[in-house]
Amino acid sequence: MIDLRSDTVTKPTAEMRKAAYEAEVGDDVYQEDPTVKELEQTAAEMLGKDAAMFVTSGTQGNQIAVLTHTRRGNEIIVEQDSHILNYEGAAISAFAGVQPRAIKGKRGAMDPAEVEAAIQEEDVHNPETGLICIENTHNRAGGAVIPLENMKAIYEIASANQIPVHLDGARLFNAAVALGCPVKDIAQYTDSVQFCLSKGLGAPVGSIIAGSGDFINQARKWRKRLGGGLRQVGIIAAPGLVALRTMVDRLAVDHENATFLAQGLGNISGLNVVNQVDTNIILVEVSERGLTSSQFAALLKEHGVLVSTFGPKLVRFTTHYDVDRETIEKAIQIVGKL
Ligand SMILES: *Cc1c(COP(=O)(O)O)cnc(C)c1O
Repeated sequence: MIDLRSDTVTKPTAEMRKAAYEAEVGDDVYQEDPTVKELEQTAAEMLGKDAAMFVTSGTQGNQIAVLTHTRRGNEIIVEQDSHILNYEGAAISAFAGVQPRAIKGKRGAMDPAEVEAAIQEEDVHNPETGLICIENTHNRAGGAVIPLENMKAIYEIASANQIPVHLDGARLFNAAVALGCPVKDIAQYTDSVQFCLSKGLGAPVGSIIAGSGDFINQARKWRKRLGGGLRQVGIIAAPGLVALRTMVDRLAVDHENATFLAQGLGNISGLNVVNQVDTNIILVEVSERGLTSSQFAALLKEHGVLVSTFGPKLVRFTTHYDVDRETIEKAIQIVGKL
């Protein structure tokens, strides 16, 4: 099977497995796990934030951020196709008790003027705007990179209104590699950041959230409340350190492979690549073939290629560490033959 469903399917490298085996560990609820501390410090430095915390998943990291920044009855500004709004089981409402104010972005980027206009005025009728969320890269927009100027403009509006900005940077390193800048250049326009170790970076488990020291202290309590306080978790933090040290620069290879795959798919009649491929995600519309996305995905599966579906018309192809150029050529051939 050629698995192009997601970059989450990457298996840990030999070096990650060895690091897990040899990791020095302690009880992380007592903050005594040296490997976790090293990962958190390394991540905080890379992001240019005061502190960071290891969490079990991107969803947990985003939700802890929402819980920490907001109060029940707040409203949070989110992009309409964002992961936080669409793919986290309405956790912002179920846990934090906040409601979303969704803004439709262009290639995932919200217009700063619309963000400004969406901030609630003080009135007895209105919820208070407690948080603004940005997603970079933007998954539903096909791994689109949100431009730094856009993030800066939103951050300035937010700061002027004393509203924090949270970045869902599940694929933050893809954005940084595509922009050719360190992740801290992106994270500077945020109050908190979440990124996934378990996607393109290839680690088996975990995400990082980062922000001010005070933010992380409060976040640590929310993580405990959610049952996310773990014990000798250096075992899974160690592969995360390997990911940060060895897997960042090579994301460029995934991006080149995605461009190559997009060209190959675009040459197949009846398939339309609908996104500009900035990073490792390709969205293909299949309806000209007279098939729904699920039917198309099922057909590909019979022939050894796995993809995921985005609604009834779109399928998503994602490149990652475990598919090399040769495998991608094979995938293009298989799709072409159908
Ligand atoms: C995958 C993803 C998440 C959630 O990460 P999990 O580790 O799967 O919970 C959040 N945001 C975006 C944009 C994602 O792509």
